[in-house]
Amino acid sequence: VQYDSLIDAPRDLYVGGRWLPGSSGERFDVNDPATDSLLLQVANAGPADADAAVESAASALDAWAGSTAEQRASILAASVSVLRERADALTELITAETGKPLREASGEVVISIRLLEWFAEESRRLTPEYWPSISPGRDCVVVNEAIGVVTAITPWNYPLYLVVCKVGAALAAGCTVLLKPAEQTPLTALAFASALDAAGIPAGVLNVVTTDDPRRIGDSLLHHPAVACISFTGSRVVGAELLRAAAPAIKRVLLELGGSAPLVVLDDADLDNAVAGAVRARFGNAGQACVAANRIYVTPGIADAFVERFVEAVRGLKVGSPQDPTTDIGPLIDAAAAERLQAQVEAAVAEGALVAVGGGPPERDGGLYFTPTVLLSSDKVPSICRDEVFGPVAIITRCDSADDAITAANDSEYGLAAYIFAGDSRRAYDIARRLRAGAVAVNGPLTAEPQLPFGGVGASGLGRERGRRGIEEFQETKTIHLVG
Ligand code: ADP
Repeated sequence: VQYDSLIDAPRDLYVGGRWLPGSSGERFDVNDPATDSLLLQVANAGPADADAAVESAASALDAWAGSTAEQRASILAASVSVLRERADALTELITAETGKPLREASGEVVISIRLLEWFAEESRRLTPEYWPSISPGRDCVVVNEAIGVVTAITPWNYPLYLVVCKVGAALAAGCTVLLKPAEQTPLTALAFASALDAAGIPAGVLNVVTTDDPRRIGDSLLHHPAVACISFTGSRVVGAELLRAAAPAIKRVLLELGGSAPLVVLDDADLDNAVAGAVRARFGNAGQACVAANRIYVTPGIADAFVERFVEAVRGLKVGSPQDPTTDIGPLIDAAAAERLQAQVEAAVAEGALVAVGGGPPERDGGLYFTPTVLLSSDKVPSICRDEVFGPVAIITRCDSADDAITAANDSEYGLAAYIFAGDSRRAYDIARRLRAGAVAVNGPLTAEPQLPFGGVGASGLGRERGRRGIEEFQETKTIHLVG
């Protein structure tokens, strides 16, 4: 075993507070992207297991929703303590199943724990509102109550953080949860459940079902009458499918569907800062992030200098084993991702883009590595700009003016994140207001701040995660009119 943490890693379903092998006894493979080989096998849930998980969440609901904020907050706080004790093991598991460098995995653990801690604190402050009535002799109270059982479906790229975004908020809101993690990264989700179990979370409040075929258990995840809300992070195609599936019963659907974030560099930007910011925004997590800067637009006065320095910086990124502390870029998640990325690069080249550096996998054996790539385009909307690019590939387009760059930046169905680098901060703020996105970073990175809402406009999704708003998405509002 390459990673010590694998020896103790839970690999069964977590249902009703118990670890179960699943009704069929089947298991599926979890791979190490760094070597493209088997790590270990986990239980493969079938429909009966998923139904049992929904029912256990439903039977735990009244007690959890009806417990005091203090009780919920203390269990979440205890979970934070256990996660902190297990931070090293979680870091290893994240690296093992995603291939992300240990340094980035460790950062993910830190922000995940901080977010859960924030939800624990905020769950104590979810106060009702009192409103005086417009009629004499009346009082009005507005309370937020748990929506019910939540199905949370998470992707592989941030296997702990995105679990905490959903599960932490839902639990703080008084909901019980059925979590279905991505087939590539079930180990981190199971380790998270194990920490909450050790912290004393009541049976049934959190359930985790792992499978390599979500459609097999889709009926229970989506259509079971006890499921009130589906919270999903993943692809647009699957998001639309879930929205359709939830329509007949009018279930609430929260969607985080990725994006194609633009990054605009204006003539008066600080060049060093813009280059460093663009490298970080594009190549963090090997480019496998929904807020990654897919499209870089530069104005004439800075274009040549930016391209030269950016290409030089990208050439300096070190591709290698995620266990090597000097590695910047680990492998892609799987072979399908590598093929998709290669096809996107080839399509861009066919449409006229020039390869300034990279363009394909490095010459080495094993693994799913891709050389950090910079493409230069004269066309503002090649296909690679329209779609999400989940890998270490940047495309730079020269624009005629700031207005031209903003128009190009907004020319997308997506609207999750946008980046602007400019010297004049008042102008940068005005441009931030004009960019069509759920989050805009000015002269720096987007930071994962627990108190700030996060989500997209347009095809990037519905609803917001994190912050007070992220908890309220898992609640219904009730107005109580008191007479006399
Ligand atoms: P990605 O391209 O990031 O893998 P997907 O949308 O395919 O994005 O997957 C994100 C999550 O959605 C994963 O947990 C995956 O198992 C799950 N998923 C994929 N298809 C379905 C489906 N039809 N029903 C429910 N969950 C699904």
